[in-house]
Amino acid sequence: NQGIGSWPARRNRKSPRRTALLHEGRAIDYAELHDRCTRLAHALRGAGVERGDRVAYLGPNHPAYLETLFATGLLGAVFVPLNTRLAVPELLHQLTDSGSGVLVHAGQPAERMEELAAGSAVVTLLAVDGGPGASYEELLAAAPAEPVDEEVGHEDVCLIMYTSGTTGRSKGAVLTHGNIVWNSLNVLVDTDLAGDEVALVSAPLFHTAALNMSCLPTLLKGGTVLLESSFDPDRTLRLVERHRVTCMFGVPTMYDAMAAAPGWADADLTSLRTLLCGGAPVPSRTASAYLDRDLAFVQGYGMTETAPGALILDRADSLSRAGSAGVPHFFTDVRVLLPSGEEAAPGEKGEVVVAGPNVTPGYWNLPEATAAAFRDGGRFRSGDVATVDEDGYVRLVDRLKDMIISGGENIYPAEVEDALLGHPDVAEAAVIGVPDARWGEVGRAVVVTRAGATVTEGELIAHLEGRLARYKIPRSVVLAPELPRNAAGKLLKAPIRARYGTDV
Ligand code: AMP
Ligand code: MG
Repeated sequence: NQGIGSWPARRNRKSPRRTALLHEGRAIDYAELHDRCTRLAHALRGAGVERGDRVAYLGPNHPAYLETLFATGLLGAVFVPLNTRLAVPELLHQLTDSGSGVLVHAGQPAERMEELAAGSAVVTLLAVDGGPGASYEELLAAAPAEPVDEEVGHEDVCLIMYTSGTTGRSKGAVLTHGNIVWNSLNVLVDTDLAGDEVALVSAPLFHTAALNMSCLPTLLKGGTVLLESSFDPDRTLRLVERHRVTCMFGVPTMYDAMAAAPGWADADLTSLRTLLCGGAPVPSRTASAYLDRDLAFVQGYGMTETAPGALILDRADSLSRAGSAGVPHFFTDVRVLLPSGEEAAPGEKGEVVVAGPNVTPGYWNLPEATAAAFRDGGRFRSGDVATVDEDGYVRLVDRLKDMIISGGENIYPAEVEDALLGHPDVAEAAVIGVPDARWGEVGRAVVVTRAGATVTEGELIAHLEGRLARYKIPRSVVLAPELPRNAAGKLLKAPIRARYGTDV
């Protein structure tokens, strides 16, 4: 087994007594992690999971998340982590689209789980901490501990991560074992992560960055992952102190919240060595709050489809190259291309494209979307616009795709507009991002109602609740007499942003 499912066994040979995971006061060393993953693999097999079958996980950061990832990897099965912030209809789409037969859950209300099982092809629920389904711990305890030997290679699919897009419903980005292995190698080559790392993982593991930029590289090296179910800025500061945390990943909004927390001034942060920050543009005020305490970010740019690291800005460059997203990761090629396919000259704008062993083979069951996502020579199209300077440093300047980043979560306006148009009183809808001090951007809906309709802002928001994840729901709704469109009837977002994107 050359896949990541073999990591606990390999680590068990090298460092069985080192602590792999720390979670709510419980320590799991590599020997125990290996034992638990092996047993879980047998238990999943007992539940009918075979090579290639999909196993979903819905819950907070928890050892069960990583155990399910490694156990599916041992079987050559496919792990499908789900975003806990999504509404039931969004989750049902992902369960059905992936064809997940098993759903491991933690911290979920019972009715939500029953709804999900009833509306999808899920036949087996595994309950980590109670609720519907078989007990995860009991199955694990009853399962044998003998080695699982299944041939798994780098080309085999490791996981499917759903990501929204500019059209329709979320798409499953397929990541192979090779994608994950090479991303971890990129991280280990391009940062100073060491074997004695204590990595605090409080960003959600259902996003690639938390999983692949700090958690898995740390486990590959034999370090300790301190798993937090959720992010709380003050608790994070206390945990850094108590556990002498050396590294963490966060989106800018998380780092901002920590710097604004009551405990910030007095917290002892001297153990921190590597602060990975990415997923959204890093505001200079965020970087300076940390620089004032001699803490420089390692900044990253990437996307789910590139597992995710594409560009990295070393800590040493954070002042001299402020505003840059950095240079390509060691094993990855990043180019900025003109529409003609030629490379942009220094300072010229073009689309960022990514190639390399960390790049997805495509979207799950979507050959057309997959074909459209790659440019000549198999380069993945980011949909981001950038310039490159004479030294090869890339600066992101715009987006081709219509997307809002709010607190590190991406919102695709097309999805929200679609849901708004589902309301009988809505004739036209456009969703734009407006600047927000806390979240970076938040969504605003600009709506044209049908003649004679009296629908209110509150009614429109209520219509979206339960249909969309809360973070996708616009913070404000503005009624407009009409919306500008081009000759083909496509919404013209630029004039809508200019007219409604500031205070109205
Ligand atoms: P996701 O697939 O959800 O990880 O989102 C990927 C997108 O987030 C990229 O295509 C960018 O538009 C944006 N993004 C990620 N990292 C950065 C960054 N460091 N600076 C600016 N935008 C970023
Ligand atoms: Mg995405």
